[in-house]
Amino acid sequence: MTAQLIDGKRIAAEIHAEIAAEAARLLQEKGIRPGLAVILVGDDPASKVYVRSKGRACEELGFHSETIEMPAHSAQDQVAAQIERLNRDPSVHGVLLQIPVPAHLNAEALIHSISPEKDVDGLHPLNVGRLALGLPGFIPCTPQGAIELLLRSGINPKGKKAVIVGRSNLVGRPLAQLLSLKRHGGDATVCICHSRTPDIGAEARQADILVAATGQAAMIKADMVKPGAAVIDVGISQVKDPTKKSGYRLAGDVDFEAVKEVAGWITPVPGGVGPMTIAMLMRNTLWAAHRSLGACPTRLTAGT
Ligand code: NDP
Repeated sequence: MTAQLIDGKRIAAEIHAEIAAEAARLLQEKGIRPGLAVILVGDDPASKVYVRSKGRACEELGFHSETIEMPAHSAQDQVAAQIERLNRDPSVHGVLLQIPVPAHLNAEALIHSISPEKDVDGLHPLNVGRLALGLPGFIPCTPQGAIELLLRSGINPKGKKAVIVGRSNLVGRPLAQLLSLKRHGGDATVCICHSRTPDIGAEARQADILVAATGQAAMIKADMVKPGAAVIDVGISQVKDPTKKSGYRLAGDVDFEAVKEVAGWITPVPGGVGPMTIAMLMRNTLWAAHRSLGACPTRLTAGT
């Protein structure tokens, strides 16, 4: 069997077109241009790449975009002051702090100081709680992107067994909540695995939907996958590759070449979940702009 490729780039482009149309309508009818501000503290090269691609996406969609680059030695109260300023700025609807931040900063406290109404990463406790209760709120972008990939590929999680490997607050846990919610895009029976799970293969082999979000390159092998399963690979790692000019290549958590012979659907890395994360960030920002008018377009929440 050769799995069908779930093309995240194509699906993200489709969503970008929807967002662009909605943003143009919002500007024309209400005079509001969605705005996203990203705070980058320090020089982490990967973070710089992510922040640049967020800025580029804003530009393409006609969003207002601001990048606040701060030196690595910035103090907690200096970063907090920027967040406070952006919380009050009406031209900014979404605020995010690029993580990781330098070790001397308390990332949690900074994220908690972002206004929940501008928390487009969905990491503020209020939004985390809203998701847990199944209430409308900002949902973290990567899990939301994974659900969109499934739905737009014709895979409805309803009644299926979903196994997620990874339990982070950013990916694994919110995805487990989304998949188990009693609504469209959810209704799955969910199992979460992590580094203390004794036999991940035994759990994973039961999955109709298998999501890997560990950062361990190629840890999901073909014999861990149920024939015909949908496999969503969230992981991104750099592995040495002397055939590349840079000396490395990006790898997912899934042993792609072997697993594609067993799975029914599979996402590539790169070009799978990654582009969806940005698309969902843009959609959350558009939603935040709507909400600034007091509107709450539920169709813009994940899985609806
Ligand atoms: P974290 O490091 O926060 O969490 C990793 C999770 O994987 C933990 O729950 C950990 O278990 C579990 N884990 C690690 N090793 C193993 C193992 N050998 N067996 C079973 N479980 C294991 O990472 P994130 O959730 O933030 O990210 C996960 C991956 O996804 C990374 O590669 C990251 O780069 C990528 N990512 C990709 C995005 C995209 O847009 N494509 C966006 C966000 C992340 P435990 O809790 O027990 O330690």
